[in-house]
Amino acid sequence: MRCKFCGREMKRVVTPFRRPVKGEMIVVKDIEVYRCPECGAMYVPEDTIKHIGRKTGEKLLKEAKKRGRIRDEKEHLRKMQEKAAKDIEEAIKRGEIKKREDAPLKVFT
Ligand SMILES: [Zn+2]
Repeated sequence: MRCKFCGREMKRVVTPFRRPVKGEMIVVKDIEVYRCPECGAMYVPEDTIKHIGRKTGEKLLKEAKKRGRIRDEKEHLRKMQEKAAKDIEEAIKRGEIKKREDAPLKVFT
């Protein structure tokens, strides 16, 4: 994995992920990222993004259920997916991202 900014070989780093999402602190231990030793750029592999996304979804769903905000889990998930698809379309329209594939990273930045 080479840095797309300076071309140096990036280093694989295993690190915990901690970030508040919708008021809940999401913690995922041992996520895999790549960091450039030259310029500090970070690359997050798609598998890592998916892994964080899955963990985040599970956690938010669990919290929402605990607080009685969700009654029908499947219906809720379907709405979330619809909203995510809409958010991506709107981000493309606004010119924030060029294509669908650019979207997953935005969720966590
Ligand atoms: Zn670099």
